[in-house]
Amino acid sequence: MKTIAMKFGGSSLADASQFKKVASIIKSHEGKLYVVASAPGKRCKDDTKVTDMLYACYDSASQKADFSSSLDAIKARFSEIIVNLGITFDLDSEFSVIAKHLSDTPQRDYMASRGEYLNSKILATYLGYDFIDPANYVFFGQDGVLNAERTNTELARALSKTDHAVVAGFYGTGADGKVKTFSRGGSDVTGAIVARAAKADVYENWTDVSGMLSADPRIVKDPDAIEEISYKELRELSYMGASVMHEDAVFPVRSAGIPINIRNTNRPQDKGTWIVAHRENPAQSGKIVTGIAGKKGFSSLRVEKAMLNNEVGFAAKLLNIIASAGVSFEHVPSAIDSMSVIVDSAAFRANRSRILESVQDILHPDATIVDTGIALIAVVGMGMVYKKGVAAKVFSALAKAEVNIRMIDQGSSEINIIVGIDEPDYEKAVNALYDAFFR
Ligand code: ADP
Ligand code: ASP
Ligand code: MG
Repeated sequence: MKTIAMKFGGSSLADASQFKKVASIIKSHEGKLYVVASAPGKRCKDDTKVTDMLYACYDSASQKADFSSSLDAIKARFSEIIVNLGITFDLDSEFSVIAKHLSDTPQRDYMASRGEYLNSKILATYLGYDFIDPANYVFFGQDGVLNAERTNTELARALSKTDHAVVAGFYGTGADGKVKTFSRGGSDVTGAIVARAAKADVYENWTDVSGMLSADPRIVKDPDAIEEISYKELRELSYMGASVMHEDAVFPVRSAGIPINIRNTNRPQDKGTWIVAHRENPAQSGKIVTGIAGKKGFSSLRVEKAMLNNEVGFAAKLLNIIASAGVSFEHVPSAIDSMSVIVDSAAFRANRSRILESVQDILHPDATIVDTGIALIAVVGMGMVYKKGVAAKVFSALAKAEVNIRMIDQGSSEINIIVGIDEPDYEKAVNALYDAFFR
């Protein structure tokens, strides 16, 4: 008998009509089925995700403001789903528990988790499946990171008792015993954890696009769908902003060798994207580049000092200054007499004076230059390892589009080239690169 883990994202469960599509997809499968559900997402472009409504409601409660109308609006989202599905579900008692929590000791992660909790319970009721609350089976350590082994053991035990269950996505229990969520989009991670614990044959990740696309569809018109991609490529692309799947969702399934299939709830007939451990000689398919992704919001801190190349430990000291401020770095391009660190602008801004003072005191530079407004774009593909001239093609495409390159980093993984450009050039640059490699 096959075992399938299926995760449905927010847009796939945004309202009752989407629930019906989800149910018919699930019912078309056979075997042991473990479903992970997100909170209701947007029903249309200008709609609000329930998770965002929950955060806003928590903000009111924590400021001791009246949260009743904002809680009512959340309840109305679920009520509409229940009524249109024609099921019996006691929303009143669920919401009185939430209201009491908000009045007593509001907790941000607990509040955010209620979207997944309620939606999954409703889906379980609709399907006639068991409901599994991850607060009892998904555990984080003291460091705030998932305790993968404990989680796997406990979850495997719970799943072994049932062949059909819905597990709520996005949260578990922290080291302090309170509810703790993953970062945004984290139901993808829950899906991967469930797939591993169930020893699933496949992890199906159902969303609102027909798989991983070779570029962000909000920037490039009708980008090609990617039929097959390696875990490594997917992780590079999702980390760099191809937001279809959470970047941390790769690890649990990769170690277990479980393939991921990204599918479209609105077009279940499409094959979607297969994410696999290895791709057979990718250069042969003629596609050297698998995808392009990027993000805005980076800054560069450049430290210049004559004869820097002779100063032992300079790089370590600079990175240590950044790390001590609690800021993580993205890239470290360096030259003979200068070294730059690319960091997230918001994190840097919050620690700017502390970092700059330390640079002055510890490194005694000739000059320190901060550049903000940088966007990073990654061109990713396994085929690059075998093929020359990819970098040249990237640079000529950007030059032709009159995009100024501020930073270049050929990733040490050999499967990506990353360029830093000015934020206003971002959309133009992504399109120029897409045209060069895909059209
Ligand atoms: P879900 O609610 O199902 O988790 P998400 O909104 O998290 O869905 O992810 C799907 C969205 O990711 C798509 O609607 C699309 O706009 C966006 N996206 C960005 N980059 C890509 C890409 N390279 N391929 C596919 N989708 C992408
Ligand atoms: N509902 C959460 C979010 O909006 C988690 C998820 O959808 O994966 O980020
Ligand atoms: Mg998502």
